[in-house]
Amino acid sequence: MKYIFGPVSSRRLGLSLGVDLFKGFKLCSMNCVYCEAGKTLLLSSVRMSVADPDEVLRELLAFKEVDFEYITFSGTGEPTLSLEIEDVARGIKKLFPDKKLCLLTNATFLSPEIAKLFDLIIPSLDATDERVFGRVNRPAWGIDLETVMENIISAAAYSSAEFWIEILIVKGINDKPEHFSRIAEVVQKAAVKNANIKNIQHGKILSPITKIQIGTVSRLPAESVFSSEARTLVNIAKYIESQLDKLSDKIQPPTVEIISRIYKSQNIDKTELEKKLFEISIRRRLALSEACSTFGTSAAVIRKVVKYSPRLDLTVFDGEEFIIAVPTSDDTAPH
Ligand code: SF4
Repeated sequence: MKYIFGPVSSRRLGLSLGVDLFKGFKLCSMNCVYCEAGKTLLLSSVRMSVADPDEVLRELLAFKEVDFEYITFSGTGEPTLSLEIEDVARGIKKLFPDKKLCLLTNATFLSPEIAKLFDLIIPSLDATDERVFGRVNRPAWGIDLETVMENIISAAAYSSAEFWIEILIVKGINDKPEHFSRIAEVVQKAAVKNANIKNIQHGKILSPITKIQIGTVSRLPAESVFSSEARTLVNIAKYIESQLDKLSDKIQPPTVEIISRIYKSQNIDKTELEKKLFEISIRRRLALSEACSTFGTSAAVIRKVVKYSPRLDLTVFDGEEFIIAVPTSDDTAPH
């Protein structure tokens, strides 16, 4: 499989089948310090053709009988950079009308036209201060915070997709409450523009942004950066809630949550396990603890599979073991 991975058990979506339009090659419009897929190999502020939609859909056909809840566009690059995202999303909707379609995005090229094709969109917004945004997300030339915020607002306002904003806190970089002083502004603008007779309840506008989720570095990051303490996340969550409260006489505000890991188990044999571990870890570093939870197996079993695999290895970061992929010449070369 070049484009499809999983199903994997994700923190928020349950079992989810992944679509990686970049076939494991890291092409992004940002070079975030915390990126679990490593440093950006090609930093681009221009959308381009990267995938063959027919081939993506052909690969997906193999999963017609498999149990999962979401089909999620994520992987090793920014999905909205791909000129094929709309064709692939439309094709998936025809092939899998009962599955929900989710997009994880940094919102640099998010538009209402793209948003309309998805059920759930999880845009990252790691700061609302331009300088801090630059330090944590290190965007490509020409991409700024205002564009990202405007894209989230207009996509949420002019589509029927549900939006969960994701904030990832990095110790010492974007870990002050005031770094998020404009989150309420994003929520307010999206809700007001989205207001119509169907989404007003008890005199309040229902916000298309229904959740704000706050996490911290939990997987091997691209740079030597560290996770923040729980207390820091709680302080930021409380600050954002207090800002959202000021809107609450007119708008039903989103819930603010600190995200933790929740997993479902899968029964899987060792050959299949080795294949799945490789498919995930070639796209991002996979914590041993996460692999255990995802596949419902012990660390000893996973260590054994890694030990006897010529294309998997273990490394330690911040006291935690991670599985990394070491592709052989037989594996699909990125691009
Ligand atoms: S975290 Fe997302 S937006 Fe940031 S560099 Fe990685 S893939 Fe790109």
